Amino acid sequence: MTGRCGLCKRILSVEGDPLSADAGGDCWGCIGQIEADHGGDPQQNISKEIEWGWRERDGTPKPQSFFQKHPKYWPTE
Ligand SMILES: [Zn+2]
Repeated sequence: MTGRCGLCKRILSVEGDPLSADAGGDCWGCIGQIEADHGGDPQQNISKEIEWGWRERDGTPKPQSFFQKHPKYWPTE
């Protein structure tokens, strides 16, 4: 069954929305931000995601509608 993030209600595992990845019942958008707030490796991950435009400067995930409007919003390597 398709789940929703327990924190922000984002629909999980939506194609094209990398922040909707299921991280144990919550979305990566929330979990990445929470883990970053506590330091550690995710800080580096979300720094990249901020750079890519997936998140606001403070780490807040862009809404799912953002990714749906920009389905190819992936970083260019
Ligand atoms: Zn969430």
